[in-house]
This record gives sequence, structure tokens and C-alpha cells, in this order.
Amino acid sequence: MKRGPYASRWEPVLAEVDKSHLRAATRLAMSGAVRARVWDGDGWRAVVERSGTRRAFDVWLPKLADYAGHARDVARWLAMRPDWLAAHYAGEWDESFLEFLSTHQVEVVPTRETAARLRALSTCTCEEADPLCPHVLAVLLAFIWEAEGSPLAAFRMVGIEVEQLLDLVQEETAVLAGAAGASGRTDVPEASGGLWAWSPEEWCEDAAVRPLGRIRPVVRSEIRP
Ligand SMILES: [Zn+2]
Repeated sequence: MKRGPYASRWEPVLAEVDKSHLRAATRLAMSGAVRARVWDGDGWRAVVERSGTRRAFDVWLPKLADYAGHARDVARWLAMRPDWLAAHYAGEWDESFLEFLSTHQVEVVPTRETAARLRALSTCTCEEADPLCPHVLAVLLAFIWEAEGSPLAAFRMVGIEVEQLLDLVQEETAVLAGAAGASGRTDVPEASGGLWAWSPEEWCEDAAVRPLGRIRPVVRSEIRP
């Protein structure tokens, strides 16, 4: 099992699933048995092949949350933080990006409800009574591993495709550059007042609406020890 910073965030979820199913799922995902993933608006349909037989199972994995209407918000974060974008292109997770997503409960990072949601909604055509069968888990692992080496791919699980996101980032970056130019701040050095100055903490105060539509972002201080 690959354990990068992103996959590590999934460990509490995977700790709740049947160990033998997880082992079987790991084998399936590593052998490339997960095929034909198709987004249907509510989740992902996939085919998981079974080695040595002609049989394949049809899996359906629910989206973890619906961010489809918030793609531009996500793009704006990335336009504000080119270092996060650079990390994506480098194929690695920026620790502060991961922390930002986690702190604000952006559901590309699993929350306490994730395991229950997957268990309640996932389906598979195999005979296994446990909804988190090896095939469902194999599809989930394929997504997690993909996102480990391509951070923005994690947003697939909430309904935003990487290409779409990158197009929007380009637009938002242009808007920001235009705004900086219009206010005559082009002479301000990047380091002191440019795009890099934006911090996730600032977003806490500025953003009226969380991606899920809640009124305020959830911040750590609200969670009682
Ligand atoms: Zn199954």
C-alpha cells in the first residue's frame, strides 16, 4: 500500500473496513483490475475485473460531496496560491494545501462521515454482503493513489475534473493579475503584497460560504477538545 501524505489521511477510513477485503482490494488495484470509470453526476461507475476469470463486477462509488458548483472557488484558491498549483504539477502534495483542505473539511480529505457514506451508498454486483467489498475498495484505492501523485485529481471524488479546474485557474489568475494592474500595484514586489501573500486564514474571514454551502467555514477553534 502506498502511503504518501494524502493516502495517510485515508488511514482512519481504511482502518474501519474489513482487513481481508482491504488486502484483496489492494491486490486488485495494484494489478490494474479497475477499469472503465465513468462519472454519472452522483458518483463513479467502474468495472473491476477478476483475475483468471471472465467475470467482472460493476461497482458504483458515491461522490464524497458535491463541489461541482464550486469549481471556481477552488480555482480561486489555486490562483491565490501558485505554490499549491506548482506542487500539483510536480506531482506532490503541498503540506499547507492538505492542511487547508483538511481544516476546512473540504471533503476531498475524508471526514468523520466519509466511511459511513461509502458504506451506506456504494454498490457492487458481487455476492459480498459487506457494501465495502474488495471491488468497491479497489475503486476507492485507485482514486486515492491517483490523487497521491496528482493532487487535483482528488477533486474528481467531489465532481470536479482536473482539466476543468486548470482551465478555471487560468481564468482566475488572469482576473487577479488584471485586478493588481488596475489598482496600480504592479510595482509592489510579489513577496510583500502579491498573490503569495494570501493565506488560508484570510480565506476563513473573507469567505461567506463554504464549498458545501454552510454559512461559515469550520475552523479548528470551533471543535472543542
Ligand atoms: Zn464487490
